[in-house]
Amino acid sequence: MRPLSHSSISTYEQCPLKWKLHYIDKIPEEPKPYFTFGSVMHDVMEYFYVEKENGKIKGPRFSAPPVNELLAYYDSIWSSEGYESPEQEENYRQLGEKIIKEYHEQHARNFTMPIATEHYFIIDIDGVKVRGYIDRVDKLSPDSVRILDYKTTRDPFRIPYVKKDEQLALYQMAFEELHNKRVERLSLYHLRSNMDFSVGRRPERMIRALRKKILRVADAIEKEEFEPKKSNLCPYCDYQHLCPYFMDLYAEKTKEKISVEDMVEEYAQISLEMSRLKKRRDGLSAILREYAEEKGMLTIYGKRSALTVSSYERVDFDDGVRPLLESAGLWTQVSKLDSKRLKELVDGGAISQELMEQIERYRTIKKITTLRRRKMKDEEMDVS
Ligand code: SF4
Repeated sequence: MRPLSHSSISTYEQCPLKWKLHYIDKIPEEPKPYFTFGSVMHDVMEYFYVEKENGKIKGPRFSAPPVNELLAYYDSIWSSEGYESPEQEENYRQLGEKIIKEYHEQHARNFTMPIATEHYFIIDIDGVKVRGYIDRVDKLSPDSVRILDYKTTRDPFRIPYVKKDEQLALYQMAFEELHNKRVERLSLYHLRSNMDFSVGRRPERMIRALRKKILRVADAIEKEEFEPKKSNLCPYCDYQHLCPYFMDLYAEKTKEKISVEDMVEEYAQISLEMSRLKKRRDGLSAILREYAEEKGMLTIYGKRSALTVSSYERVDFDDGVRPLLESAGLWTQVSKLDSKRLKELVDGGAISQELMEQIERYRTIKKITTLRRRKMKDEEMDVS
């Protein structure tokens, strides 16, 4: 399996189908302004700390470059990819210039050479390879470091968010595994506000939980579990035309399609009307039953119809009767077959091969398909 990365793990967690379309089928996503801008800004931040020529690193800097050199480098690597309009591109370009000037103002005087920038790592977690690039590693003491990740997101962070950020946890785990140094601080550097959001190292239990998650994701990928997972991020997904939840929106508008559209609309209308009528019927039923009971009547009459009121008692028992029936040897005669539990026992291998073969004879698989009307504004949901 190809090595995982923080971004591929979170893509899988967001939606396994999206992961497959991106990483296996290699269907490119639309370029996005924030990705292009983020990548340019990361490059400039690295240039602040290392000398580069023709895109190649020449060596570390011992002092900050002049701000004009930084801005000229920014101009030279600018990319127009993904911007929706010249105005949008210009806004981003000006934002970048502002960030660079402020960053220079804040950090040029107290320039400190980092231990590493864009530090590549690849580690092995119980056979699963994970790789990534750490934006910056700063020396804190001879034995300890701070790991920093630049972010170009719009809003600054809250400290509880930074404390839970899994990318930083992964970087701590990887760096400590590969180097004999302790990661003491973890920082997200918010470039738009030029603010550093730092927290202490992650406790071991969080690192263990992250390892487990990585193994779980890797296992699911190995088993080719690529079900689509609908979420509030779907509107931003570039793969809607390939996704079973949305592909119908992109289907060709053939004659047949038009009639399917009409049927969907009619179905939705009927469902809505039925739901409204059912509510009304239930309301009338309650009033009429109360009226009949109060008057002691068993039949009540309208102009053309009559309704007969009948009552019966449904008897239920709770779980408390089970030991009584078991001790009387009667439980098996009244207990209901729990198919879900039985499937769990079968899947979990708790049943012998011989018994399993006998059980198989009684197993039927029934596919139930329901149509669920999508909730529109101020409307009820219904299912049929
Ligand atoms: S639209 Fe949503 S469910 Fe479909 S592939 Fe994209 S993220 Fe997954």
